[in-house]
Order: sequence, then C-alpha cells, then structure tokens
Amino acid sequence: MSELLNFNYPPEPAVDRVTLFADVILPLPLPKLYTYRIPFEMNDEVLVGARVIVQFGGKRVLSCIVADIHENAPAEYQAKYILDVLDDTPIVTAPQLKLFKWMADYYMCTLGEVINAALPSALKLSSESRIQLHPQYNPEEDKIPLSAQEEKIIFALQNNQALTFTEVGTLLQAKSYHKFIKSLIQKEAIIIFEQVSDKFSPKVVKKVRLSEHFVQEEGMLEELFNQLAPQPKQLDVLLNYLQKVPVHQDLHLNYKGLEKSVLTSNPHLSASSINTLIKKGVLEQFDQVVSRFPVDHEPRQLPMALSEHQLQAKDEILGLFKEKEIVLLHGVTGSGKTEVYIDLIKHALESGGQVLYLLPEIALTAQIVTRLMKVFGDKLGVYHSKFSDNERAEVWQGILSGRFQVVIGVRSSIFLPFHDLSLVIIDEEHEASYKQYDPAPRYNARETALVMANLQGAKTLLGSATPSIESYYNCKTGRWGLVSMTKRFGEAQLPDIELVNTRDEQRRKAMHSHFSGQLLTAIEERLQREEQVILFQNRRGYAPFISCDECSWIPKCKHCAVSLSYHKFNNELRCHYCGYHERMPHDCPACGATTLKSMGFGTEKVEDELKLMLPNAEVQRMDLDTTKKKNSYQQIIADFETGRTNVLVGTQMVTKGLDFENVSLVGILNADTIINFPDFRAHERAYQLFVQVSGRAGRKGKPGSVIIQTRDPLQPIFRKVRNNDYQSLYEHEIEERMRFGYPPFMRMIRVTVKHADEQVSENAAIVLAKDLTDRLGKQQVLGPEVPYIFKIRNLFLQEIHIKLPRENTNLKAAKAQLAQAIFNLKLLPDFKGVKVVADVDPV
Ligand code: ADP
Ligand code: ZN
Ligand code: ZN
Repeated sequence: MSELLNFNYPPEPAVDRVTLFADVILPLPLPKLYTYRIPFEMNDEVLVGARVIVQFGGKRVLSCIVADIHENAPAEYQAKYILDVLDDTPIVTAPQLKLFKWMADYYMCTLGEVINAALPSALKLSSESRIQLHPQYNPEEDKIPLSAQEEKIIFALQNNQALTFTEVGTLLQAKSYHKFIKSLIQKEAIIIFEQVSDKFSPKVVKKVRLSEHFVQEEGMLEELFNQLAPQPKQLDVLLNYLQKVPVHQDLHLNYKGLEKSVLTSNPHLSASSINTLIKKGVLEQFDQVVSRFPVDHEPRQLPMALSEHQLQAKDEILGLFKEKEIVLLHGVTGSGKTEVYIDLIKHALESGGQVLYLLPEIALTAQIVTRLMKVFGDKLGVYHSKFSDNERAEVWQGILSGRFQVVIGVRSSIFLPFHDLSLVIIDEEHEASYKQYDPAPRYNARETALVMANLQGAKTLLGSATPSIESYYNCKTGRWGLVSMTKRFGEAQLPDIELVNTRDEQRRKAMHSHFSGQLLTAIEERLQREEQVILFQNRRGYAPFISCDECSWIPKCKHCAVSLSYHKFNNELRCHYCGYHERMPHDCPACGATTLKSMGFGTEKVEDELKLMLPNAEVQRMDLDTTKKKNSYQQIIADFETGRTNVLVGTQMVTKGLDFENVSLVGILNADTIINFPDFRAHERAYQLFVQVSGRAGRKGKPGSVIIQTRDPLQPIFRKVRNNDYQSLYEHEIEERMRFGYPPFMRMIRVTVKHADEQVSENAAIVLAKDLTDRLGKQQVLGPEVPYIFKIRNLFLQEIHIKLPRENTNLKAAKAQLAQAIFNLKLLPDFKGVKVVADVDPV
C-alpha cells in the first residue's frame, strides 16, 4: 500500500496491524541486505537476531538472520513475505551484529560472507538441508513426547536415512513446518544431516552394573554374598562395586553403574575375577554413550597456587586493567602464563561476565582444555574446526543459554554469540594462524577479538613468549599495558642452544643424510636415558620435489606453478596448493631413465630415516598428513605424553605451547629456509619459531638442549635466539619497519588479481594499479608484480600492495576508493571475468 492510499483510506481499527519489513542477512555474498515483508500474524514473532525462512531467487528457500525491523517498504522491488519464523529468541546477539558489520567493512567483504563463516552449518537451513535421526536417539526405546507431526517425521526417518526440508514439507502437507524440525532438534531426536559420518562419533565408555534381579528382588543380594563367600577375590570385586555404587542406599544408582575401568585399574582387584563375575551374569557389562561435553561431576579442582612471580604478574595485570583496556603478557616459555590466565578467568567469572580464551590451533587445545576442564568443569565450552557442525551448534546454543561461561577455542570462536564478555585472552598472540587467508572474510582473529572486547566493554590480555612486533610497539607507545615474566616456573632453566654448521659437516662428510653427527649422538643419548626428543622440520611430505638425474626433469603441478611434493607412504606426487596428485612415476617421463631422485626433505623422510638409523626408537610424526582424523592429534600427543613414543617429528605443529615433562632435546633440522623466506616478517617469524620450539625442551627439573642445524651459523638471528634476547630483535625489526615503511607504521592491503589468461591478468593489474595510483597517490601503490608462486588452481596471479600511513589516513575513505576501483575494473569488457581479492592486513 502506498503512502497516498494510506492517507485517503485511514487504517482499519486494528491498531496493531502495522506493516513491518525486515532487512535480512542471507548467507550469500550479496552486496546489500534484502528486505522482506513480515506477515501481520508474525509481527510479534520476528525478532532482530533471530532466523526466519524466506524465498530467495526463483525456488530456493533458506534461513537468514534478521538485521533490522522497520516500516519502510523497499523502493526498488516488491518485498516478498517472510515464510516462517524459526527462533523465538535471537541466536545472533546485538553486539555480534555490530561486530559482523565491522568485519564486513574493515575486511572489505559482505555481511553475508561474514554470517556464512560465522554460523555453524547446522544453524543455516535451506530447502536443500537434510535431517536424520539423532545417532543417540532410539524411537523404539526413548519415549520423548512428540506431537502428531513430529511423530510423522520420525516415522519417515526410520525408513529413510535422511529427508530434505522440502520432503518434510510434502510429508506434512504444510508450508509452515520448520518449527517441527526445530523442536525435534531441541528434543535431540534429530540432527541436521552430516555428510561425513566419521565426524559424529559419540564417545562410548564400558560400564558394569549388578544384574537387575540382584537389586530388584528382596534378599537376592544377601544370597549372592553367601554364594561368593568361597571366592574371596570375586567377593572383593563385589564389595568394591557396592562401595562405589551404594545400591543399598538407593536402588536407582545401580542403573547407572560404574565405569569398568574403575575396577580394572584397581591393583587390589583381580582382572579375571571381574570377568568371571561378568560371565556368571552377576555383573552386567554395557556401553554408555557419554556427552561430547562431559559434565564434570567430580568436585572441581582448585587451580594451582600461583608462585610469587605469577602472583606479581597477575597483580600487575589487574592494576593495568584499571587504566588500560589491553595488556600484553610477555612471559618466557614455561613461565606459567596459563595458570595466570586461569586465575584471571576465575576472577572474571566471579563478577559474572563471559570469558573467551583464544588459541591459535587445535594442536594446543588438548593439553590446555584438560587443565581448564579441571577448574571450570561444565562451564567450559570448547570450539574448534575438528568439531562436527552439530557439535558447533551445541556450543553456540550453550553460550546463548548461559551453559558455557568460558569458551576456549580457535580463530573462528570470535564468531560465537557472546553478549556479556568481561575478559578475552589471546594466547600465543604472535601466531600467523590467527589470520584467515581464504575465503572471505579474511579476518585476523586477534584484531577482531580486540574490537569485540571493545564493543562489549571487556578487557583483553594477550600473551606470548615472542610477541609480534606490532603488539610490542603498542606497548612501547603506551597504548597497551605490558607485563613481563622473565623466569621459568619452578627451577626450570631455559635450554642451551647449540649450532651445528651443516656446510662444514658436509665437507667433512660427517652428515648422515640430513642428520649431523652431533644431532644423532644427542638423540641416542636421550633415548638411553629414556628421555624424549622433538624434531622440527618445516615441510611435510617426503621431499619437496623430485628430479631426474639424467635430464633434470622436475614434475610440476598441472594447475599451479609449483613442483609436486613426493609422499612416500602412498607413493604419490602431490601439490600442496591445490591438492592435485598423481602416482610417482617409475621412470622419467621425459627421457625414460630410472634415475629419479628426491631432493630436499620433509617430515616423512626425517621419520623414515630415523627409524632406519635408530631401529629401537618409537618415532611418530605430527603434521597435516597424520592429523586428518578427528582425534589423531589427541592420540599422537597422548602417546608422546605417556612415553609410548620417544621421538616426535613434526612441522610447526610441534612448536606450539605443548608442555611435556620428559623432553630434554629439541632438534631443528634445517633453519635456513625459514630465515631466508622472502617476506618482511621472515626474521621475526624465524625468531619466534626457534624460541618457541626450543621452549619445548627441558621443562620440569631437567635442563634441556637444542641443536639447530644451519649452513650459516653467523646469521645474527641465532645470537638473539641463544640469548633469548627479544629486546634486540624488536629494536632491529622496528627500525627496519620504520625505514622501509611496513606495519606498524603502515597499514597494508594486498590486492590479488586473478585470471586464467596470463595476459589478461597482467593487463587488468596494470589498469587497476594505475587507477589506484590516481586515487591514492603514487607513494601508496606498489606493483603490480608477479608473486613468487604465479599460478594457483589455473589462475595467473598479479599482486598490488597498498600501503597507507597508520597516522593521518582516512582508512575508510581509502578502502572505499579501492572498492570503487575494483568495481570499475570489472565494468571494462576485457576484464569481466577477472577476480580481484583484497586482503586487509595480510600476514
Ligand atoms: P607457558 O604457557 O608460560 O609456556 P605453562 O603455563 O605451560 O607455561 O607452565 C609451565 C609448566 O609449569 C607447566 O608444566 C605447568 O603445569 C607448571 N606450572 C605453572 N604454574 C604452576 C603453579 N602455580 N604450580 C605448579 N605448577 C605450575
Ligand atoms: Zn629424465
Ligand atoms: Zn596445484
């Protein structure tokens, strides 16, 4: 109805029949929000931050988030009606919406892309979404009260593995059926279908309980005692069970039973007697599925008592928080930062807010989660990429409902629906993996967390043994507070670091393949002393490339400008950029010779050779290839922790945060490629990596050593690493950054132009660079240039770097100019198919 008509015909008596519209965020890369009309009967039901179902385009029906409700009909199109309301309370909070808008602006992407990355798939429904029975729900046995419609759905699912939403609609012959699906999800009768069944693997524990009739029937238990009297060992088991499960006090306790391991791990009980009782039918063995987020019924452990240094650090942090929003804790490896965090989290929870604890990688979480779980029990939520979508949705809802007050998680946890944060902890803040490269939003979780904390009035503590130059600079200029811990916890010493010149060793013919004599001897010594060793090599696979001895042929990826890596375990050549793989050829496809040789080395080769050289050692490898499965990290770490493995070989994954008591030697096999990487952050990275990996050595009591193999021991970075001299690294780096115009003095945006035709890509980049120069000034635009890897996935790449002075730049205006330039470029007929990606603050 237009305003004019409204004026002529005054509204009908029903005063509340206002025509309302909702702007919604669809999980798609659309430049603008779409406006839908709210049917009158839903006027009270549609809420900002809640999901509604709409039709988008011709046929597609999908869920989206309401961003705003107003009375303005869109001018350009006839608004369609919202079809259904999914949530009666918002699932995206107000501060979250603000943050998402900031992310879209700052990282130059659409709100739809942010929402798409933010919401677990299980919360993004569309007509193509499918449902299946909850793996833990058995319709025959578990009597959940269901409505007639819900029963219909369950019945259909018992006969079909999965149903699409459209099929559910047809089944119920109803348009508005989403509420039934939602209700069934809440009742844990169904889940959103998961493609990979492996993802949803409920944890099962073996339990035992007394067979039913001993408990139900009067006098049976006494009779059992009499029967077992001649078998004292079996009687012991029974008594022990009754002690743990006082059935005589409460019959129902028997139903839950006892974890079998409680009995089997008791050294005073005989394992065979336990099994005999099961065989006899006295004890009944059963499997129980335990929650993915075990509720810790055990009394919570108190956190460890802080040492004097830790107390002092904590007091300093709390003191600084009185004046500053952000504090950096610079504490050497093993100084006990985690316990300081735990104490601060407790402190924050006491005053009622939520806490987010960010970690760069899941590899780390296993150990720290256990530590936090002991203190915070069922208040702790865990969020990481190895979780299934349904598990993630569970965490999401748990934060909304108040079940989880502390969340520990990786990068993507900044998307979670916090609304009352009082503390954010960013551990290992220097880590590059806080940055998402692809796809959009290309955000840095560290900066985003800072904005999120700011929006919710929370304090932020960043922690690192090797802070990023940018963060340290913020402390030096007084914007952030700085607290230092210079000593390791307890008596632990920082390790000794020895450099081995592999160039000399080669000349002396003293290298055993990639191992120097010093390193091998040191490893053997540790093994004899039953101590453990970590070996770091910054490359996975067996060899980064192979080459023909006769004609020098090197196999390259068909789609990328890189050589193929050799993976021995499956005899494959593989591209680490696009995943292309082929079988390792037997002889050279170019000249036919059978002299293909592998060049260089990766973790797989280190593992392989070590197993040959030290046949008695248990060697395990931790890299991308060995940690694909959901629980493989935990397994590898657990094996190492319990001493089942002696040597852990790995990529970056082994460098971070892991804390093993028994590791007394760390070896870095090839330091040179890390230092000589062509990037302005190469030295900072190298320092961080060497110090971090060295930090794994010699934790409790035992002094540790580190052996670094290099062809250039005089490289100044080593002196800084050996002396643990962060100050001199910082001073050197910050001076260079100032001189050559890099962050923190400049803000950078990397613009990548991509096209399947090399010439088109180059031409487009030239035109774009020219336009950007006109808009932003000559000083601000560098390039275009061809990046080191100039083709990925069949697209030829060109890069333009934009540098904007940190002070006195209108960043928003500059980004608007960039967006306009990209938009204009794509209008040109020659460059229609060109892709342009802007990466803000690339790392
Ligand atoms: P960081 O994170 O600073 O590298 P951690 O927090 O991992 O250091 O602590 C190093 C070691 O010291 C760990 O094994 C930890 O259990 C131990 N530790 C730290 N603080 C305490 C404490 N207050 N009481 C007992 N042990 C502690
Ligand atoms: Zn050849
Ligand atoms: Zn490739």
